[in-house]
Amino acid sequence: DDESALPETHSELDQKLVEELDREQTRLQIIHDTRKSLPVYKFRNPLLSAIREHQVLIVVGETGSGKTTQLPQYLVEEGFTQGGKFQIACTQPRRVAATSVAARVADEMDVILGKEVGYSIRFDDKTTLDTTILKYMTDGMLLREFMTDPELKKYACIIIDEAHERTLATDVLLGLLKDILPHRKDLKLIISSATMNAAKFADFFYDAPIFNVPGRRFPVDIHYTLQPEANYLNAAVTTIFQIHTTQPAPGDILVFLTGQEEIEAAQQSLEEIAHVLGSKIKPLIIAPIYANLPQEQQSRIFEPTPTDCRKVVLATNIAETSLTIDGIKFVIDPGFVKENSYIPSTGMSQLLTVPCSRASVDQRAGRAGRVGPGKCFRIFTKWSYYHELELLPKPEILRTNLSQVVLLLMSLGVTDLLDFPLLDKPSIPALSKALENLYTLGALNSKGAITRLGRMMCELPCEPEFGKVLHIAATHDSCKGSLEEVITIVAMLHETASVFVQGKADRDQNKSGIIGKVSSDHMLYLETYNNWKDMNYSKSWCFDHKVQFKTLVRVRNIRDQLWRCCDNLGLVAVNDQASKTLGNLENLEPRIIKSFIAGFPSNIAKLGTSGYHTMGARQGGVDVSVHPTSIVFQALRKDMAKPSKFILYQRLVLTSREFMRDCVPIPREEWLNEMVPHFFKSVNRQRS
Ligand code: ADP
Ligand code: MG
Repeated sequence: DDESALPETHSELDQKLVEELDREQTRLQIIHDTRKSLPVYKFRNPLLSAIREHQVLIVVGETGSGKTTQLPQYLVEEGFTQGGKFQIACTQPRRVAATSVAARVADEMDVILGKEVGYSIRFDDKTTLDTTILKYMTDGMLLREFMTDPELKKYACIIIDEAHERTLATDVLLGLLKDILPHRKDLKLIISSATMNAAKFADFFYDAPIFNVPGRRFPVDIHYTLQPEANYLNAAVTTIFQIHTTQPAPGDILVFLTGQEEIEAAQQSLEEIAHVLGSKIKPLIIAPIYANLPQEQQSRIFEPTPTDCRKVVLATNIAETSLTIDGIKFVIDPGFVKENSYIPSTGMSQLLTVPCSRASVDQRAGRAGRVGPGKCFRIFTKWSYYHELELLPKPEILRTNLSQVVLLLMSLGVTDLLDFPLLDKPSIPALSKALENLYTLGALNSKGAITRLGRMMCELPCEPEFGKVLHIAATHDSCKGSLEEVITIVAMLHETASVFVQGKADRDQNKSGIIGKVSSDHMLYLETYNNWKDMNYSKSWCFDHKVQFKTLVRVRNIRDQLWRCCDNLGLVAVNDQASKTLGNLENLEPRIIKSFIAGFPSNIAKLGTSGYHTMGARQGGVDVSVHPTSIVFQALRKDMAKPSKFILYQRLVLTSREFMRDCVPIPREEWLNEMVPHFFKSVNRQRS
């Protein structure tokens, strides 16, 4: 806005233009040089020949050698898209990786993100029909494409990247691809992986060749703690300051933490200590990276560190192999990861913080040796490394609820699940539990065949349980009319991690405005969204109420997409007829709660003499408590509510105790049998 900065004359304008062009030229030159300096560049031609020669190729290489960013570009340059007639897909297990790599590659190719190069992740599609030739996408999105295009006809090449991560979607994709390869002789499949597991992929694809890209790697000194650390977060923070004050710059630090909450806690204590030390230490730049971090903030990790500063990247295991950050010389690794764990016999799914595998901690250590010799500080003992850590991580397919995938496979016509090709076969109890869940939801009939409702659930871009909630909210006699509200809540539940501005005080303050009015997290989410909507989606309203504006914008987008899907499935029309006769919110709340009971009958806890206990499991449940962040907890603490006999929760998290997050009290017991008749009867019978 500074007027004096405007050019005064034409010649000055020309001068600015020339400078601008120069800068652009330099930038392109640097990108060009960087691309040529990556280890994979030397193997460009042999790689392309191998791809031409074989239908399936396994590419193995050190992280940071250029597999993800370069390989797809080589395929484009070599005309594999046949002048844009076909696309190239590169799958990523993580959303953040898909978006960040797509942005980088668009930059390298000097095109606009979303045109030639795009990305596609759930609820966010940045591609253009007809122009996008290179698409980075989550493995889950490619999986969904099988529903509309069972032979993936629009693709010339598919790169399954980070295959060693062994996500559920990647494993199922590999099985489906194995099935279609004989019918799609022209399709090229490239599986790219870190060194672990490569032979297993080769075996799976009838001895497919393995192409090794040797990387450059400097030695990394490994340090262990002498005793186990009770509080690894504190230990990590202390280590950061030790490195910062004793080791010369440049040399950035990468810390592996398990999730957003831990990263925020670490960031806060780093900032506090740095503030106290003030000018006694050189400046620290703190850059967090995790899945829910708003996109604009993600790129901070890649910004070059100014001289005399040190960057500390606080990352989840996304930085283990998916993202490469240049300039890292020190790695701090507490050796933990947050992992989904599912127990078929109880039907309970929870996120657990568990020790990493040896393969993972070795991979993490390697991140310190890319630019030069590095150091890795492990916050666990050497004994633990050799005696307590598993060799390899456990594939997701062996530790997750399979309902969604089983439903998808059945909708694709896979009838014999035991015969479907998979790298690791799930256990029979896990498969039967999935079938049982789907039957309870009404996605399968008593003969085990997929129902119309089951097909509808597949069409909706959410878990089958949420699909059921939406369907019931639109069609069930005692629920219909509540679809719009339920869609809002479902959309909010997809983003709960970041709706409210962090900090406990902030949260309480925010909710106090609404707390007297609502008695569940579900209604709190609904009220929050609706208030924002009534304020014309205002940014300042969010600021005043300690709500994250960007999160609500994402929720609005998710909401619109769910609405469109429900509309296409005819649910909106059914719902609208009923909603004309219904009025205000008080009327709707029972309808909303009932819809959620129908979708999540397994997620209900009952109040006993010693607190809440989960129901729905055949073999007893577990003791659970309402999470302190829940509005239900706050209402109980402030004696504003009598504890309800039944509570429905969306998630269980195990920290110091087993906690229920996102809770809604169920005011009347009859609703359980009304909404899921057979379910609760059979549970009770088996128990007594
Ligand atoms: P690989 O897939 O083999 O691990 P990548 O293709 O991801 O390797 O990375 C190659 C190089 O590109 C790395 O040096 C990395 O630092 C750089 N790079 C990747 N993404 C970005 C980004 N978003 N910004 C800046 N540099 C990036
Ligand atoms: Mg990669």
